[in-house]
Amino acid sequence: MTLSDERRKRRLRKQRRQQAIFFIIFFVVVALVISILFFGIRGIISLFDKGEKPVDEPKAPAVTLSSADEVLVEARRLAAGYDYDKAISLIREFKGYEANPSLSEAITEFEETKGTLAPANIYEVTHVFFHTLIKDNAKAFDGEYTEDGYNQYMTTISEFEAMLRIFHEKGYVLVNLDDMAKMETDENGNSKMTAQKIMLPPGKKPMVISQDDVSYYQYMQGDGFATRIVIGEDGYPTCEYINDDGSVSYGDYDLVPILERFIKEHPDFSYQGARATLAITGYDGVLGYRTSPSGEGYNEEEIAKAKAVADRMKELGWVFASHSWGHQLYGSISVEKLRTDAEKWENEVQPILGDSDIIIYAHGEDIAGIEKYDSSNEKFNILRNFGFRYFCNVDAHQYWVQLGDNYLRQGRRNLDGYRMYHNPEMLEDLFNVSDVFDSERPTPVPAI
Ligand SMILES: [Zn+2]
Repeated sequence: MTLSDERRKRRLRKQRRQQAIFFIIFFVVVALVISILFFGIRGIISLFDKGEKPVDEPKAPAVTLSSADEVLVEARRLAAGYDYDKAISLIREFKGYEANPSLSEAITEFEETKGTLAPANIYEVTHVFFHTLIKDNAKAFDGEYTEDGYNQYMTTISEFEAMLRIFHEKGYVLVNLDDMAKMETDENGNSKMTAQKIMLPPGKKPMVISQDDVSYYQYMQGDGFATRIVIGEDGYPTCEYINDDGSVSYGDYDLVPILERFIKEHPDFSYQGARATLAITGYDGVLGYRTSPSGEGYNEEEIAKAKAVADRMKELGWVFASHSWGHQLYGSISVEKLRTDAEKWENEVQPILGDSDIIIYAHGEDIAGIEKYDSSNEKFNILRNFGFRYFCNVDAHQYWVQLGDNYLRQGRRNLDGYRMYHNPEMLEDLFNVSDVFDSERPTPVPAI
C-alpha cells in the first residue's frame, strides 16, 4: 500500500464520517419538523414535561391556568355551559385543589348540579333560522325593487336581539346538530347515526340556530347589510359595514358577532360551546369574500382571507354547512345537475371552510318527502358519498326530527318578516310577535 493510497483511504473515511454526521443532522431536523407539524410546539414541549397533561387530551385549556382564581373562573364558565365534567376535571388538575375551600366547594356544587340533569328528547328540538340581518332599516326598506324580498325573508337586528333575550329567558339552550345524534361505530365495525344525550338542568330546552346565505351577496351592497365577516383585534368575529361616504365601520352588524357576544354575556345559552350553523353557497363567494373563480369580483387573495376567518370561527365553535354551490333546488334539479353542483361546492368552498357533513337545502327544498331516506334515492346516495350526514329542510312545525340509520334530518323554522306577520300563532311557543316585531318594518308584509 502506497502512502497516497493510505491518504486516500483516510480521506474517504473522513468523507464517510462527515456524510454520516450530515445524515444524522438531516434526520433529526426532518423528525423535528414532522413532529411539529403533527403535535405543534406545545405538544413537543409537553412530551418532555412529565408534569403536564398528556398530549392526546383534546379538551385541555388553551392557556395554562396558574392561580386558583383563574381555575375557578374557567371552571365556572365551563359549568355555566353545562360541561360539569370538564369543569370538575379542570379543578382536579390544579395542584393542591383539595386544600383550597373555594375549589373543593365548587366541585361539590358541580356534582350536585350534575345530579339534577336529565336528557332532552332529541325529537323535540326546535331549529330556527335566519338570513343576513338588516343593519340599516331605512336602506333595506327604501321602496326599491328589493324591499319586498327583504321584508319577507329577512330579520332586523333589533328583532333578532329581542328574540335572543326571550329565548334565553324561556330556558332555551343553543345546541349543535351533532349534540342530537352522531355517527358511531359499534364493535362489529358498523357505523350508525346514534341519538346522543343532551344533559340539561330542569327548565332548560335545546334549540338549534342556523343562518342561511352568509355570503354578503353583491346584490345586497348598499341596502343596509354588513359586507363581510372579519376577525377583530380581540380575536373575535365582527362585521364590516360600508357607510354612505365610503368609510368603513366594524361592529356587531350581523348574527355571528351578536350571538358570540350574547354567549359571552350569557354562557348558559350555549351547550358545551355550541354556536350556530352557517349555510354557505359558493357562486358569489363566502363570508363576504369573492372566492369563486367564476364569480364577479374574484380575487385569489380573498381565498386566504376567507380561510383565516373561517379557521378562527371554527375554533370558537361555529359550524359550516353546504347550502349548495349555486343555491340550487336539490329536490327539483336532475341527478346530474345535483352531482355537478355538489362537486363545485367541494372544489371551491370546502377548501376554505373545511369538511362539512351538513346540508342545509337551498329554498328549503328537500330531496324527498317526509318518508325516510333510503338507498333507492340516488340523490341521497350522491350526497352521502360527498360526506353529508345531516340534512335540514324548512318546515313550519315546532319540531320535525327524523333519525335514520345513517343520517339525521331536521326541519327548520323561518323567523322572518313573512312568518311573523302572516302566521304569528305558529311562533307562540317561541315569543309573542308583538314583543319582537320591528316597528320600522313596512306593513303589510307582502304575501309570497
Ligand atoms: Zn338560501
